[in-house]
Order: sequence, then C-alpha cells, then structure tokens
Amino acid sequence: MNRHHIVGLWEFEGDLYSEKLGLSVPLRTNFKRHHRHIKTGLDLRASIRAGAFAWPGRYDIGFITDDGGLLCHGCVKAELYNITHSIRNECSDGWRVIGSDVIHEHDNCSHCNKSLGLEEEE
Ligand SMILES: [Zn+2]
Repeated sequence: MNRHHIVGLWEFEGDLYSEKLGLSVPLRTNFKRHHRHIKTGLDLRASIRAGAFAWPGRYDIGFITDDGGLLCHGCVKAELYNITHSIRNECSDGWRVIGSDVIHEHDNCSHCNKSLGLEEEE
C-alpha cells in the first residue's frame, strides 16, 4: 500500500512543532505570538503571524513605535523591511516598532489613517 506521508506542522503556545521531531523539541520557537515588547525582527514577525486581531473579541492589534505612533497590521506587513531595519539599527525614524497591544480605545493608524479598535456591530 502506497501512502503519501505529509509531515505535520502545528503551532502550540507560539512555537512551531513538527510531527517528525515531536512535541519535546520545537521546530521553531517564537513562531506565532503577539509580543507586548518587540525587541527583534523575529519578535515582529511572530507578532505579524499571530494576526491582526486579539482573541477573544474583535479588537485590532496595533503596533506602537518608539515615537508614540500607532501602526496597523497591514502597514507593518507592508513596511516590514523598513521596520526590521529600524529595530536592528535602533533608528528613531518613525518605523521602529517597540511593541504591540490590543487597541481598546478607538484610534487611527499613524501611516494610513485606518480606524482601529473594536468594529461596530451592524
Ligand atoms: Zn495602517
């Protein structure tokens, strides 16, 4: 009997595991997790993978820059190169993301002006 073997990958508490290695050894740590404090490009990418919304609820996740700006998930994805460069070189050019948080109060993205916060029920 010929069977296709597909290596299973799954994510648990922010780390990535494979069927091959088992649960004792993560394939990649810091894979998918919202970081309140973002210190590296890896923290940033894990936070992007974790999605644009907090769970439970429908609150947006916003990214906070060192100059007090707020960036939406879409802008952070689009400007990943600039942001990663600014984090790595500790530039204060407006792109240096230092953290992410749930946006409870209505606010706008500093870059594209998108409205952030809880979406109104229709
Ligand atoms: Zn934006």
